[in-house]
Amino acid sequence: MKEKKSVRIRASPGPIPADEQVRSILDMPTTNDRRPSIRIGYGFDSHEFRPGLPLKIGGMTLQHEKGLGGHSDGDVLLHAITDALLGAVAAPDIGALFPPSDPQWKGADSVIFLREALKRVDDAGYSVANIDASLILAAPKIGPHAAEIRTRVAELLGVHCDCVGLKAKTPEGLNLDAAAIAQVVVLLKKIARPKRKYRR
Ligand code: MG
Repeated sequence: MKEKKSVRIRASPGPIPADEQVRSILDMPTTNDRRPSIRIGYGFDSHEFRPGLPLKIGGMTLQHEKGLGGHSDGDVLLHAITDALLGAVAAPDIGALFPPSDPQWKGADSVIFLREALKRVDDAGYSVANIDASLILAAPKIGPHAAEIRTRVAELLGVHCDCVGLKAKTPEGLNLDAAAIAQVVVLLKKIARPKRKYRR
């Protein structure tokens, strides 16, 4: 006949008082930073060439018989960079922050838009690691201006110009000679101290 095993019954500690629960939560270490260490953003923009306008690309004025139309200065590259930065931190896009219906942005320098996006990136606790941009336009040739544009964009972003990639393509087979297109990918890296709490 089997012997019955003795079972030791422990006294239940009972429910933890609510104030003690709150205290234990407040005492938890605050080093649990759930922000991802990197974030990626993508931006796209296009503008139509129009005669009688200065051509602004990447914060530079290029010599050309036409410029890019738009409510602001039409800087297609800065607009795509701005949207890539905003997208990387899940902020509203450039059209939501600077609506074309608002007369204060008529003819505005697109550097204003870029600086607002950089502020939001900084507020989220990130800085720019690098960007890669493609410009698609039939004319003018970007090659002779690429170094200047990269240097200006790097200056605006606060990164070394080695961290700004710029490629120019002609829109072969796309029948898009009347427009300029910019596509941009940006990589952000986490900085040590977030200025606002990261929410999942
Ligand atoms: Mg635009």
